[in-house]
Amino acid sequence: MILTITMNPSIDISYPLATFQLDTVNRVTNVRKTAGGKGLNVTRILKQLDTEVVASGLIGGFLGEEIKKDLDENQIPHDFQPISGETRNCIAVLHEGKQTEILESGPVISPKEATQFLQHFQQLAKKADILSISGSLPAGLPVDFYSQMLTVCKEKPVILDCSGDALKAVLKGKVKPKLIKPNTEELADLLGGKVSSNLDELMAALKEPLFEGIEWIVVSMGAQGAFAKHFDTFYRVTIPKIEVVNPVGSGDATVAGLTAAIEAGLSDEAILTQGNVLGMLNAQEATTGRVALAHYQKLADKIQVEKV
Ligand code: ADP
Repeated sequence: MILTITMNPSIDISYPLATFQLDTVNRVTNVRKTAGGKGLNVTRILKQLDTEVVASGLIGGFLGEEIKKDLDENQIPHDFQPISGETRNCIAVLHEGKQTEILESGPVISPKEATQFLQHFQQLAKKADILSISGSLPAGLPVDFYSQMLTVCKEKPVILDCSGDALKAVLKGKVKPKLIKPNTEELADLLGGKVSSNLDELMAALKEPLFEGIEWIVVSMGAQGAFAKHFDTFYRVTIPKIEVVNPVGSGDATVAGLTAAIEAGLSDEAILTQGNVLGMLNAQEATTGRVALAHYQKLADKIQVEKV
C-alpha cells in the first residue's frame, strides 16, 4: 500500500470568467471544485494507476468533510486526523488568459493536534510499503515537522516533495527521505543561487554535501524533462515536445509515477520514464491530477534516459 500525506489540503475552486471586473459583481456559471493540495493530486494519479493507496493528513470543519466526500466519490480510501480548525479554500480566477489566485493560509495546528497526528501517522505508516509526502506545512507546526515524521517511520521509504524552509530542515535532519523532487527553482532556492541546465553544473549541484544521504534526487525541469541522481549515478531524461494544456500539478503527477515505480521495484530507467510520462500526461489535460493513460506508451517510447 502507498500512503500519501497532505498536511494542508484545500478545496480548489476555479472560476472561469471572460473578463474579471474589479469593484463590481462577477457571475460565474462554470464553477469547478476539487479536493486539492499536492498530496491529493499525487493520490488521484496513483488511483488512476490502479495502485493501492490510502490518503492521510489533517482536515477540519465543513470543507474537511467535503474533501472526504470527494475522496469517497472517487473510491479513494482515506484516514485523516481531524483538527479543530477549518480546511481552506484556494480560489483561482481564470480570466483573459490569466490566472489570479486567492490562497487562504489555512488552519493553525495546536501542539496537541501535532502530537496526535504523529501517533496516528506512525500507526498508518506501519501498514504502508512506501510513503509519499507532498506540499506545505500548515501554520502552527514546527518547521522540522517533516523530519519528525521521517523519524517515526524511519524504516519505510519516503518520497518527499516539499520546498522552502520545510525542505531545508529535512536536509539538515538525521533521517533522510528516499527521494526528493525539487524543480529547478526549488533547487536554486536550496543552493542560494541560479541553476543552469548545463549538465556539469547540475551534477556539481547534486553532489553538494547538502544532499548527502538522499538516495534519489530528481530535478524536474518542465518542458526540458529531468535530471536525476541515484546513489552515484547521474541521468539525463530527455522528453519529446508536446502540446501543453495545463501544466499545474505536473510535478505531483511525476511524484506519483516515481513512487509507484519504486514500489513496483522497477529499474532506474523505468522509474524515471514513468515519472516523466505522468508529468507530461498531466500537462496535456485541463484538469489537474487527471491523466489519459491510453497515451502512456506513445510518450514512453519517445523518452530517452541516458547515464551521464
Ligand atoms: P513542478 O510542477 O513541480 O514545477 P515540472 O514543471 O518540472 O514540476 O513538471 C514535472 C514533469 O512534468 C517534467 O519533468 C516533465 O516530464 C513534465 N512537464 C511539465 N511541464 C511540461 C511541459 N511544458 N512540456 C512537457 N512536459 C512537461
